[in-house]
Amino acid sequence: MACDYIALAAQGVQKLTPYVPGKPVEELERELGITNIIKLASNENPLGPSPKALAALDKVKAELTRYPDGNGFKLKQALSNHLGVALDTITLGNGSNDVLEIIARAYLAPGDEAIYSQYAFAVYPISVQAVGATAVVTPAINYGHDLEAMAAAVTPKTKIIFIANPNNPTGTWFGKSEWETFMAKVPENVLVVLDEAYIEYVEDSDALNGLDYVSRFPNLIVSRTFSKAYGLAGLRVGYCISHPQVANILNRVRQPFNVDSFALAAATAVLDDTDYLHRSRKTNRDGMQQLVAGFKQLGLDYISSAGNFIVVNFDQDAAPFYQALLREGVIVRPVANYGMPKSLRISIGLPEENARFLQALKKVLGR
Ligand SMILES: *Cc1c(COP(=O)(O)O)cnc(C)c1O
Repeated sequence: MACDYIALAAQGVQKLTPYVPGKPVEELERELGITNIIKLASNENPLGPSPKALAALDKVKAELTRYPDGNGFKLKQALSNHLGVALDTITLGNGSNDVLEIIARAYLAPGDEAIYSQYAFAVYPISVQAVGATAVVTPAINYGHDLEAMAAAVTPKTKIIFIANPNNPTGTWFGKSEWETFMAKVPENVLVVLDEAYIEYVEDSDALNGLDYVSRFPNLIVSRTFSKAYGLAGLRVGYCISHPQVANILNRVRQPFNVDSFALAAATAVLDDTDYLHRSRKTNRDGMQQLVAGFKQLGLDYISSAGNFIVVNFDQDAAPFYQALLREGVIVRPVANYGMPKSLRISIGLPEENARFLQALKKVLGR
């Protein structure tokens, strides 16, 4: 082979490291020949899908030969009603990861800068580097975003700031006053992407809700997903709300049929499924308490989390604990790739799954 196809790739792409997903259950089954495995690794909803989603999927089957509605009209209509936003502010994505990538492709070119925090979601660096833009990473404070440092990092080259609230993988979050101070400092020609993938789990009624600020700040883009509290991770559907001009641009870059018929139908059906959402929240709240109590009992340090997951610290290399937990049939998430080699991230499961994880943890710690 005379050609180096790695070297042939666009420069930013050559330097990419692929996203590391949680280990699939089937893979561990094959490797260890064990069954009854539990996976608490990918911040998935442990409840299983909403019956409303399943019913909607059934109806779509007969339409499989047709392309989906490329404008996602029904879902946009439902979102518009549910969120109180205008139709022309909505951009749909194949998961909100797609939305994040569309934003990067639409607004970043080589030479442009995008700012995100240390311990930020792994999709930001991938989206920024893939288009050959320059990533500017600001240090975290107590694992969370340092909004002051992020605002101070803005240069004439800055096009986008990516912020997740609550943040994944750390679970950290910030409130209105910090946010308002930050937004006041960011110039209008710098887009702020506020990634609210976990917003539905935040129960404090006084918590920051990005949608309250979209009309005030035309440079604000709020992204959300059906993958977490709505329990549709396997279908891939998310969206963002922005100024209509931004949405106009994003909808030019977007693939015409980026959200498939099943995803559109199920998302439309679950949006007003308050019963499911309440169950998601309650399961998460109870599970979080269960894990925190378990960590305290085991004398383990953890990062307080507003998401559907929690990071636990081991004060030593966490990889052996991850491996030992796998042998107990429990898949959690290493976060060494996020620069946290002494920690593991645990997604909140059902009560019995949390209990099994804690039992396995106790065993692998030798306590
Ligand atoms: C899970 C997650 C998302 C959602 O991704 P989807 O593509 O919608 O499944 C977005 N942002 C963050 C920070 C996440 O953790």
